[in-house]
Amino acid sequence: MSTSQLSRLQYHSAQWVIPIDGPPIEWGFLAIEGPQIHAVGQYADCPPSAKCPAPSPGSIITPGLINTHIHLEQSFSQTIPKGPQQSFVDWLLAVIESNRSRSSATDKLERCRLGIQECLHSGVTCVNDIASGPESIQALQEAGLRALVALEVFHPGHQPIQIAHWLEAYQKLQQASALAPLITLGLSPHSLYNVSIAAWKALQQALQPAFIHTHLAEFEAELNYLAQKPSAIDHLHQQVLGQAFTVAKPLPSPVQGLLENHLLNQPTILAHAIYTRPADRKALSQSPVGIAHCPRSNLALHGKTLCWADWENSHIPIGLGTDGRLSTPTLDLREEARVAQSLHGWSDARTLSALTLDGAKVLGQAHQLGSLTPGKRADWVLWQADSSTSHAAPEKQVLAPTTPAQAVMIDGQWRYKRESQC
Ligand SMILES: [Zn+2]
Repeated sequence: MSTSQLSRLQYHSAQWVIPIDGPPIEWGFLAIEGPQIHAVGQYADCPPSAKCPAPSPGSIITPGLINTHIHLEQSFSQTIPKGPQQSFVDWLLAVIESNRSRSSATDKLERCRLGIQECLHSGVTCVNDIASGPESIQALQEAGLRALVALEVFHPGHQPIQIAHWLEAYQKLQQASALAPLITLGLSPHSLYNVSIAAWKALQQALQPAFIHTHLAEFEAELNYLAQKPSAIDHLHQQVLGQAFTVAKPLPSPVQGLLENHLLNQPTILAHAIYTRPADRKALSQSPVGIAHCPRSNLALHGKTLCWADWENSHIPIGLGTDGRLSTPTLDLREEARVAQSLHGWSDARTLSALTLDGAKVLGQAHQLGSLTPGKRADWVLWQADSSTSHAAPEKQVLAPTTPAQAVMIDGQWRYKRESQC
């Protein structure tokens, strides 16, 4: 290594460095060169001239956490709890009303800022956001958080398709993100019950997004609507749009609907995926898709979530998402992970992988995110475990609620420090 290269390298150390793509390293270091990871290894192997600080007990370095499904605009201070007798559709109507009553750009921007701060505090370095306007892009740029941002579209009618309206909305997001290298733009047809196949196809073609992010197979009324059976979706459309809609032809399942219309040919993130058949999962395993698993939102709104035994050998990437703050009490992704872990019996290592590398795979970003691999982007978190977990395995220490994020770096820049944010 040349002297000039050594002078550009920045060394950090910890009692544990967990690269995810290899075993945890006790008393390890992480070397950064600009926005990229240069190396990881044993602290004892640091070159003397590196001036690497000595690791402090209880410190842990991991890749940044990746939230695969979030609505930053919905970062209200409180959830809208779904009552025990309330249907999901009635809850959705309450959400729509809440969004409408506080829908100014200033309100939305403020909520996005709050949501982003909560993400950074909890060690998240990348989010997959659904947006109705450019506010989240502005807030993301201010904070330096990496993101995929998809324009949310509602278009249940078949004809005429409102291309110009949605193109204009998309162009606003393009303008807002033109100078934002950490942001990738996509399209979020809300769901198959709120966007017709014809509109989905036409908008995907017209807007040419880098990826698709949608809600799929989330609840039974959705399946009934797609099968042309009586459904609570009719009530939703009537209440919000003043008329009922119907699908052009009955679909045996939401996944099948996308598949037979060639809508799974580009990178696609499917949120929820609670209701799938073996044939659906087989088709998904051969498509460029990932699953955003949101167990807390699913349990709160539907009383159930996906069955892990159905998916664990599918080779389909599954990451974790908090969903929006209206259905989830916090945007702390480790809280989501603890719920998934207790539901599915995941090991600590499996859970940490779901929070990092699997999330990167879901977003199609594993070539640059999700592990402390030389050449990947320098998105990582310094955690500080306390004495209550110091004898546990390092993965368990990271997942413990008593282990706060101490500092967060994104693309080689400090974006959060526990005492003072930068
Ligand atoms: Zn959602």
